[in-house]
Amino acid sequence: MCIFCKIANREIPSNLVQEDENFFAFHDINPKAPVHVLVIPKAHYGSFNDIPGELMGKMGTFMQDVAKTLGIDQSGYRLISNIGENGGQEVGHLHFHIVGGAKLHWGHFADADPKDFF
Ligand code: 5GP
Ligand code: ZN
Repeated sequence: MCIFCKIANREIPSNLVQEDENFFAFHDINPKAPVHVLVIPKAHYGSFNDIPGELMGKMGTFMQDVAKTLGIDQSGYRLISNIGENGGQEVGHLHFHIVGGAKLHWGHFADADPKDFF
């Protein structure tokens, strides 16, 4: 069983924010902003590539609610899902990062120069 399945099953402790029958939101162990929460489906999907659309819709509604719980829905935040090797995904269980609580930077994403591709 993967590490995020164990967190959803409470076999590994986490700092819970909110849960419902399908999803689990908890604070990232290594926060990169004042608010940094991870949202996972309780069922295992390897990445965003694999989740059925209907469940993704419910996950969107759940994440809207988590942002309200965190008090950042009006101040703004960022939703991020890293997918696969180029996406920088480290844990192979679909998760969205909800990042906020301060003005976020918008950096360059790759060392490759976009101009080289057009
Ligand atoms: P990824 O790079 O896969 O998009 O992000 C994985 C995230 O999971 C990282 O931000 C990392 O800090 C977080 N993480 C990894 N292991 C644990 C854990 O055991 N507990 C919590 N709360 N976060 C974790
Ligand atoms: Zn899993």
